[in-house]
Amino acid sequence: MTKTISSARADFPILKTMVNDHPLVYLDNAATTQKPQSVIDALVDYYTHYNSNIHRGNHSLAALATQAHETTRGRVARFINAEHKHEIIFTRNTTESINLVAHSFGDTFVKEGDEVVVTQLEHHSNFVPWQLLCQRKGAHFRVVPFTPDGDLDLEVLDKLLGKRTRLLALNHVSNSLGTVNPLEIIIPLAHSRGIPVLVDAAQSVHHIEHDVRKLDADFYVFSGHKMYGPTGIGVLYGQEKWLEAMMPFLSGGEMIDQVTVDRTTFNQLPFKFEAGTPDIAGAIGLAAAIDYLEQFDAEELAVYEDDLLRYGIGQLGQVPGLILYGNPIRRSSILPFNLEGIQHYDVGVLLDAYGIAVRTGQHCTQPIMDRLGITGTVRASLALYNTREDIDALVQGLKRVLKMLKR
Ligand code: PLP
Repeated sequence: MTKTISSARADFPILKTMVNDHPLVYLDNAATTQKPQSVIDALVDYYTHYNSNIHRGNHSLAALATQAHETTRGRVARFINAEHKHEIIFTRNTTESINLVAHSFGDTFVKEGDEVVVTQLEHHSNFVPWQLLCQRKGAHFRVVPFTPDGDLDLEVLDKLLGKRTRLLALNHVSNSLGTVNPLEIIIPLAHSRGIPVLVDAAQSVHHIEHDVRKLDADFYVFSGHKMYGPTGIGVLYGQEKWLEAMMPFLSGGEMIDQVTVDRTTFNQLPFKFEAGTPDIAGAIGLAAAIDYLEQFDAEELAVYEDDLLRYGIGQLGQVPGLILYGNPIRRSSILPFNLEGIQHYDVGVLLDAYGIAVRTGQHCTQPIMDRLGITGTVRASLALYNTREDIDALVQGLKRVLKMLKR
């Protein structure tokens, strides 16, 4: 039996919270999503009943915790349809996953004079690590621009993917504009030239397609906390052939095979990339989040979220002086805007007085803001528990802001 979307709100205890004497309207989901009771319960259950360090213990709790942690790895692998469980590396978040690849892949495969291609639609987390890698290696950092509508310029991308390109890194969904990048075109194009692709799925894995084998992603990264799971846990999926060829990123306990005074040999995958005690509770919470998400019919959810987004675009269009940014061919979950003549920060603070949580500023995407010639936006971002009433509350709030400032 699939779960109905209308029942979702009741699963998130925080949504009953009052903020500044108003019921919370939570529209900051691209920053982090709220957690269903089942995820909270999984964390409490772990700490209450079987908290223990994993892998090295020989007592019962250690065995239980190890089993739960490793079961989670299989759960994640099934969720994104990875071929092997050992292609799932646990990290702290998307940022760490990308840094791991930038260092380990970069050290092995990127040489002086080579090129790394990213896009101007990236979060800083999928921009700066590559820029720094190129600086370290004397490689060229190439950036694909976007069109006035907020779509990637595929003609420029085509030109930039050249003989010296060692990797293309791009997101599936932009956290600032909501653009859905056409990976079904881009990944085959890169692969036809022998270029591997890293997909930043932080804003997409819980909204749209996330089958890594169908996408044919070489690397695929996301954060637990943006998909109804806990903070502190992230995922790097990498195809076995790449992970086997890469050197470890962090070193220390667990990632070793043999350590002598002269040299160290490394553990097998995935442990080669998991130095130190991992976020055991986080991984268990992530599995609970996946279980939660998979109770819904994926297609029904996509239709619901698309419909809500369209409703949001329509309703925001009724607010006098509102500028909505981007008009990409396909958009997911993100509503970026400004009110003419009013600072985005002020809009955020005034909305908060009515219990409405949005994010304001650059959203870790300064290159996007530079291209748009603005200092930032107000960003409302949607999750499966949001409703048309939330959008109506936002629109009402914005009208009140305008009235308060007498616009
Ligand atoms: N990539 C994208 C597209 C994001 O939206 C974010 C966070 O907003 C990140 C990367 C970084 O995620 P985290 O802070 O969980 O590492």
